[in-house]
Amino acid sequence: MNKNSKAAEVSMENLLRIFTVPEAPGSTLSRLEHDISANLAGFLQDHIVAEETDLVKIERDFSDTLIPEAPVYVSEQAQFLLDKVVAQSVHTSSPSFVGHMTSALPYFMIPLSKIMIALNQNLVKTETSKAFTPLERQVLGMLHRLVYDQPTEFYERWLHDSHRHLGAFCSGGTVANITALWAARNRAFGPDGAFPGITRAGVFAAMRHYGCEGMAVLVSERGHYSLSKAADVLGIGRDQIVAVETDGHNRIRPDALQAKIRQLQQQHIRPFALVGVAGTTETGNIDPLDKLADIAEEHGIHFHVDGAWGGPTLFSDRYRARLKGIERADSVTIDAHKQLYVPMGVGLVLFRDSSVLKSIEHHAQYIIRQGSKDLGSATLEGSRPGMAMLVHSALKIIGRRGYSMLIDNGIDMAARFAGRIETLEDFELVSAPELNILTYRWVPASVQAVLREVDDDLQRQINDLLSRITRTIQKTQREHGKAFVSRTRLTPDRYNRHAITVFRVVLANPLTTDAVLQQVIDEQREIVVSLADNADIIELNRLTGVALAPG
Ligand SMILES: *Cc1c(COP(=O)(O)O)cnc(C)c1O
Repeated sequence: MNKNSKAAEVSMENLLRIFTVPEAPGSTLSRLEHDISANLAGFLQDHIVAEETDLVKIERDFSDTLIPEAPVYVSEQAQFLLDKVVAQSVHTSSPSFVGHMTSALPYFMIPLSKIMIALNQNLVKTETSKAFTPLERQVLGMLHRLVYDQPTEFYERWLHDSHRHLGAFCSGGTVANITALWAARNRAFGPDGAFPGITRAGVFAAMRHYGCEGMAVLVSERGHYSLSKAADVLGIGRDQIVAVETDGHNRIRPDALQAKIRQLQQQHIRPFALVGVAGTTETGNIDPLDKLADIAEEHGIHFHVDGAWGGPTLFSDRYRARLKGIERADSVTIDAHKQLYVPMGVGLVLFRDSSVLKSIEHHAQYIIRQGSKDLGSATLEGSRPGMAMLVHSALKIIGRRGYSMLIDNGIDMAARFAGRIETLEDFELVSAPELNILTYRWVPASVQAVLREVDDDLQRQINDLLSRITRTIQKTQREHGKAFVSRTRLTPDRYNRHAITVFRVVLANPLTTDAVLQQVIDEQREIVVSLADNADIIELNRLTGVALAPG
């Protein structure tokens, strides 16, 4: 324990106080609370240390594993959090932090989250959630309607029916994807005659009964890694997430998909789900969903759309057509903590057919009984917070037209930024944005010219050097703490599918502007100048035989 800390007195009386008595108005915690509510951006600005501190150094403040014997005062702990945790956290809502998918939060989320925490409802069963249960079902209905647009009577009939589920809330896109594939697996290998179904008999018995030697899920090579986790958890094996080749725009190739399906059939491996991505995590591209729906239908396999990122594009009148075919999906994942602007920890999966989730239903005697309205019977998670309240609030306060504007703003800004990069001599646009994500890298025009001329081998060597330099620029920029872009590796056709490292920019923060993006580029240029002595740059100069103009 910290030597300077004053121990509070341990007594039942004091313990009762922390449950019942609010902190005094002038206390550290009250001040902190007030500052956060009054001016969140300012609070973060004032308290987060911009310059990046090495994680190993930060670890030293979190290395004591002894639980303090005597309690510390609330104010002391609040001060510790301010100094050691808040100070070293990440300013995720900063307009110049454009490399991640964690959204900026609207102000109203802070007081509303407090209501949620204060009520501390548990959505596993109605006994501990009451109005939160119909509220959650209503939100599922609203988003189901956004995707599937069924007639009003459909929602009147099924929204609150205890035997049906329009979808399931969960902690995020990963669990949403697991839930979708879980239901798909259970339906594909369901009860059949004397066979009780995979749910009861397990994977091995299911394969024996259905006469196959494996189960597979098809997705493009740009599919999210959560699908591999799902395959592992569901007992089908990570290797059975079959990666299908993409075209020059990072979209799945239908011909390659058909070939893979034939190949699996020959190996007696049964593909039970096809995943289309609506907004790939790395480049924001959208698979040809209509075509995928045709192929899934042709082979009788579950069609899931991973719209964790791009799903909310459906709010946009101008851009929703880019997701055409999503309404034919059996299930759709949407992350609320991404483009619905809700605090971290909430995603959901929707099912076109409200009876599909029955395939994962689980009942117990003391709760989630047959026929009850307890939501816990059809979710992977058990106890679960009332995050639906925050999604409900965002949907109402921002509204369909508000979301439409936010979506359009991000897509339009990405298009303008891409256009700007294309006019720059020393940068190269690697993936043009279809939604609000784009990738690019630093390559002087002279090196670009060389790359077009040289043979494959030399091209690879130069690209490898550029990849190392991209990484250095990205890390240096992050360490400076003023701006943040992320990086990923892509295999563009232009370089014969050789993997290169690129900067990745995600534009979903409405506070980001063209000017902020220009500053990101300017800083990257300054970093390049400061790297004049960098071994990779020297080698790049040597290899290309082109002197880079200093400054
Ligand atoms: C973010 C994302 C996920 C995973 O969601 P989490 O909320 O991080 O669990 C899955 N798929 C796609 C396409 C994503 O962008």
